[in-house]
Amino acid sequence: MKTLLPTSTAGSLPKPSWLAQPETLWSPWKLQGDELADGKQDALRLALQQQQRSGIDIVSDGEQSRQHFVTTFIEHLSGVDFNQRKTVRIRNRYDASVPTIVGPVSRPKPVFVDDAKFLRAQTSQPIKWALPGPMTMIDTLYDDHYKSREQLAWEFAKILNQEAKDLEAAGVDIIQFDEPAFNVFFDEVNEWGIKCLERAIEGLKCETAVHICYGYGIKANTDWKKTLGSEWRQYEEIFPKLQQSNIDIISLECHNSRVPLELLQLIRGKKVMVGAIDVATDSIETAEEVAATLRKALQYVDADKLYPCTNCGMAPLSREVASGKLNALAAGAQIVRNELLAG
Ligand SMILES: [Zn+2]
Repeated sequence: MKTLLPTSTAGSLPKPSWLAQPETLWSPWKLQGDELADGKQDALRLALQQQQRSGIDIVSDGEQSRQHFVTTFIEHLSGVDFNQRKTVRIRNRYDASVPTIVGPVSRPKPVFVDDAKFLRAQTSQPIKWALPGPMTMIDTLYDDHYKSREQLAWEFAKILNQEAKDLEAAGVDIIQFDEPAFNVFFDEVNEWGIKCLERAIEGLKCETAVHICYGYGIKANTDWKKTLGSEWRQYEEIFPKLQQSNIDIISLECHNSRVPLELLQLIRGKKVMVGAIDVATDSIETAEEVAATLRKALQYVDADKLYPCTNCGMAPLSREVASGKLNALAAGAQIVRNELLAG
């Protein structure tokens, strides 16, 4: 990446109201069949144009063709029965009705590759594509077959690696794995979670990222955050092993969170996507607020490794708020870029 402080988003952007109910997760599609396929592509174009108008450097599909960042991927795998649903506790935080693993899991055909090719054809800018991470996938399922979280995660890692290689071939520049579960199950992360992630990126030549956040701005997550105390030191548990891993970029929640930014010292050497936009509030950051977060992060991250970003996906926000936040992110990054170039 030649641009200094290249901006990007963690992933999702709001969907147009004609495609799905806005400001809702798992919102059902309003179109069907060919109309749905066309509608998803039109929404992807709009999401891309919004990022370009705001001046975002590394663009994405805004996850316009997915209902949810984990379940849409799982729906395309065999070995999973969506009719057999069980209620499980997601990341020890909230109950959800999830599908059941009933046999060996596999990927009969590519999941997002056509969408990625479509995005690639629309722009010559660097593109980033998000996939769920293995540990977050197992946490969104009931396993009636392997009966081992580690073994299931390993199987998913192999499947993700197939998908990632196809995405790379489609021209994706950065493949990101979303692992909010890394902030919860520290022992498992250190024992096998990071190893599974490394299995998922095996043999890739494009850049790879892991996104670890405190979740979307939904009530279950904001309630959980209230129990975490005045300092959020969860990252401290997993950073030493992540620093040693083969992952190129680590995407984190930094703005308005209680994460002490000095923890970033533990991942010195890695590129860091610094979340400078709070996705859990409708109030739009000023460019100066974004710049202040980036300046703080610069104390612990080398300038050539700092990627300004959002704390998490913006799917639950209104389009108006999301576009205001994208503008602020780009403007805030520009302030700090100018300072660095002047200094
Ligand atoms: Zn997130």
